[in-house]
This record gives sequence, structure tokens and C-alpha cells, in this order.
Amino acid sequence: MNLSGDGSVEVEVVVDSRDQVGEGPVWIGPERRLVWVDITRRLVHGLDPATSHTETVDVGQCVGAVATRSSGGLVAAVETGFGVIDVATRSLEMVAEVEADNPNNRMNDGKCDSSGRFWAGTMAFDETPGAGALYRLDADHTVTKVLDDVTISNGLAWSLDDRNMYFIDTPTNGVDIFDYDFETGAVRNRRRLIEIPPELGAPDGMTVDTEGYLWVALWGGRAVHRYAPDGTLHTVVSLPASQITSCAFGGEDLTELYITSATQGLSERELHQQPHAGALFRCRPGANGIPAYSFRD
Ligand code: ZN
Repeated sequence: MNLSGDGSVEVEVVVDSRDQVGEGPVWIGPERRLVWVDITRRLVHGLDPATSHTETVDVGQCVGAVATRSSGGLVAAVETGFGVIDVATRSLEMVAEVEADNPNNRMNDGKCDSSGRFWAGTMAFDETPGAGALYRLDADHTVTKVLDDVTISNGLAWSLDDRNMYFIDTPTNGVDIFDYDFETGAVRNRRRLIEIPPELGAPDGMTVDTEGYLWVALWGGRAVHRYAPDGTLHTVVSLPASQITSCAFGGEDLTELYITSATQGLSERELHQQPHAGALFRCRPGANGIPAYSFRD
């Protein structure tokens, strides 16, 4: 099905998964497969776009994000910390606890850096301001708290030269940039790069393209925005659903942008008006992504 938004980029519905909180799309290049999560329904979805075959694993805990693991399977940020998922046996094994003594919090968005470390943050189920943090899981399974006082940890990305890390704490209405040391994983000198007017939606997940531009999903904003590395808005991809959560490039040539969405936060009336809320969307916005990094433990 093809749906045209009001922009010039044509968007199609790939899977009408009706996700509660669809999130974290990752293209697995060698398998030519996309995986993404439905955080609150505790699901990891997999799609083979060539056959349209989808598979779903119930993780048994809220799952905020996954990434591929170089030794096979997936690394995951779940309710109680970091785990690994054996896709064949559909089992989750915890490798490091994070805030496990705090039942009010769960892990949220996450991503691997070029050195193979897995980063993911936490948030309170009730979005208590400042109750979350950002963590880094290193190869030896040690967990380092990188940032405190986070409300909804989202949107990790790195600049192509690995000198900067980008981060989104959704209620702050913008994208922050850090100086980043790729050898140690240390970040410092946080400052605001992109300010997003609240009426355009709240920034959620993001990805970077081969030109170093950022693609930012807008919760409540019916759109994905592309920003230049200097923070100026470059392109708007309009979507037929309001709760847009994240995006990642996929397809053999990494020219297809896969976009996740949510039904959470919509009234009965809005759900009726948005029959594709919670779907996985795809478009060809005229840019290329970079391959997703794997967790190397
Ligand atoms: Zn998110």
C-alpha cells in the first residue's frame, strides 16, 4: 500500500503491526532482515522484506532496544538491564542488571557504537522527570552510568568521524551533542544542537546517514525530520500516523528508511482516524544509511 503524506516523499506501510510502542528498527545486513521492538508488549519483531514474512519473539520483559551481537543473536535493553537473546531458542539471558531494584523504571532506546559497545538509557514507566539515566555496556559486560537526570532516554547516534555523540532526552525538545572519545566511550561537553518547537512533536529515536545528517522521529509530530550536522532542518518526511518513534536505513543498498510508530497515547477517536498507527513504514527519502554496529563481547 502506498500512502502519500503532504511531503514529496512517498511512504508505504510495510507491516501493520499495530505496535503499542514500536521502536528501535535495526537492519541486519548479512541476513537482509529488519528487526524492531514493541517495547511495552515485550516483543521483538523480525521482517524479511523479500518475502514479507514476519516473526515475533516474546521477550517476557519490556524491551527498549536490540542490536546484533557479533557472536550471533541479539543484545537487548530490557526492563531489568542488559540481556542477550538467542533467536533460535527465543530465550533471553541477562548479562548485567541495571536499576533492577527499581520496579518503577525500565530500559528504553539503545544502540551500538563503532567500537561495539551497547548504549541504552532508562526511564520511569510514569515518566517521572529526571528518574532515568544513560548507560553503556562494554565488551566485558561491565555497565557504566554515563548520564544522570534523564527523563526519557532516546535517540542515540554518532557523527561519522566518531568525534561526537548525539542524544535525545525527549521532554527537553531537542537533540544534544557531546564530545565523544571512541576509544574509551567517554562523553563530555554536552550542549544543545537542535531545538524542536513542541508544536512539531517531541524528538524520539534517530539515525545518521552517509552525509552525517540526522534523521529524527517525532512523537506526536507525524514526521521524521532530517537535520544537517549544523542543526538546520533539511527535509521533512510526513507520515500517516502521529506517534513516530524511530527510524533506520535498510535494504541492500541502505537507501530505504524504515520508520516505527506507536498507538500509545492515542484516544479511541484518534486510533480510528489513524488506521496505520503502530505500523512499520518505509520510504526512499534520497539518502543512504550506514550499517548498524554490532555488540562485540
Ligand atoms: Zn524512543
